Amino acid sequence: MSIHEECGVFGVYSPKPADVAGICYYGLYSLQHRGQESCGIAVNKDGIFTSYKDLGLVGEVFSAKVLASFPRGRMAVGHTRYGTTGASNRSNCQPVEVNHQKGRMALAHNGNLSNAAELRSQLELSGAIFHTSSDTEIIAYIVTRELLSADSIEEAVSRAMNTLEGAYSLVLMTPEKLVCVRDPFGFRPLCYGITEDGIYIVASESCAIRAVGAGFIRDVEPGEILVFTKDGVTSRREHCGTREKRSCIFEYIYFARPDSVIDGVSVHEARLRAGKELAMLHPVDADIVVGVPDSGLDAAIGYSMASGIPYGMGLIKNKYIGRTFIAPDHRLDQVKIKLSAIEEVIRGRRIVLIDDSIVRGTTSGRLVSLIREAGAKEVHMRVSAPPFLYPCYYGTDVDSQDNLIACRHSVPEIAAMIGVDSLGYLPLEKLGSLSAGQGYCSACFDGNYPEKAASGACRNWFETPLSEKEA
Ligand code: SF4
Repeated sequence: MSIHEECGVFGVYSPKPADVAGICYYGLYSLQHRGQESCGIAVNKDGIFTSYKDLGLVGEVFSAKVLASFPRGRMAVGHTRYGTTGASNRSNCQPVEVNHQKGRMALAHNGNLSNAAELRSQLELSGAIFHTSSDTEIIAYIVTRELLSADSIEEAVSRAMNTLEGAYSLVLMTPEKLVCVRDPFGFRPLCYGITEDGIYIVASESCAIRAVGAGFIRDVEPGEILVFTKDGVTSRREHCGTREKRSCIFEYIYFARPDSVIDGVSVHEARLRAGKELAMLHPVDADIVVGVPDSGLDAAIGYSMASGIPYGMGLIKNKYIGRTFIAPDHRLDQVKIKLSAIEEVIRGRRIVLIDDSIVRGTTSGRLVSLIREAGAKEVHMRVSAPPFLYPCYYGTDVDSQDNLIACRHSVPEIAAMIGVDSLGYLPLEKLGSLSAGQGYCSACFDGNYPEKAASGACRNWFETPLSEKEA
């Protein structure tokens, strides 16, 4: 697997001064799986912002000394980043902070604007100067521009939403308010909860809400703006229901943590269902079902439950290697450093190997070699997603068809290339069972881009090779 996640966002609103940076820190820890390149926290104490952000994991960036340097405040915004637009460098770390004529703002973003290039060039032609290459700064600019003539930050955000296209789950903070927003398609998840002390928590995933001891209230609806102030929470819904809901189906398959619940659907249960479907559609005589850690494990349990083939822990993941691990010696097989096979489980057995996807095929091929070297008699691979055929423009790094093995090869050819005895994918028509009947985006599998469908015409973005867009 070599797809990377997007980002994780987190927000805190406390009715009275509290250690909001500490709460944010624990929340970001729970969202580390969504981005490991950089992270940051901005705290608001009486309208004065204090922030710290850097490249690295949450535990590396926020030492005890750094955390102690934050004041107690009433609001905080946090971010973990895997950059999908913009280079991985310090200037692209979030939250993005903006000082403007009416005050200041800190903004954290998960997703990717599909009209970022167009908006950026319009802004630059009107005199804007960008300090980063990330699309989050574009959002900050547009919200700030609208704020100059709007009565409130929520009005400015609502107006900005008429301009922004693509995926954005945002948490933003002004001197008086915490605001969170989910784009009208609802591509990326966003939800909120409350602690026993009345502190509101906003997070990309419900696992982060529970991690800080808060109770889950609900998901932010696609197109909804929530505003947290000293008077409580208010909802603006003028963009709700303006588009058909199209949340990212790959959140259930791979991105999200299995203990999260997105739009009322348990990620763990969605993966179990995928595994069960695979067992019914692609049965095989085998001795043991092995899941590829971490995101293949739940589907492997589902396959085992539906097929009656015992589940076995045949692969162990090195927990101390982050997903952005860089090998100092490229001759070494990185798969072997990240994963190891348990020979006692594998040797002499016919294995059903469950993974969440095959992208380029190189990682899958190495994984299959690992299982064979451990003595597997047969390896039958089952994938809990359909073949990847199209790029994603909504916040993942599947950016080019050139990198997708299924674009150039049939299923039997892929099976031969990665060295398995048989290969079966989850078919497109079964994806709906993962989101329990709710509208979902499956564009990377079927090319059915939500915005293309919404506009009724092919927009240039979807027809232009990525290399040209980035030029
Ligand atoms: S294109 Fe694929 S990865 Fe991207 S938002 Fe849609 S389903 Fe998710």
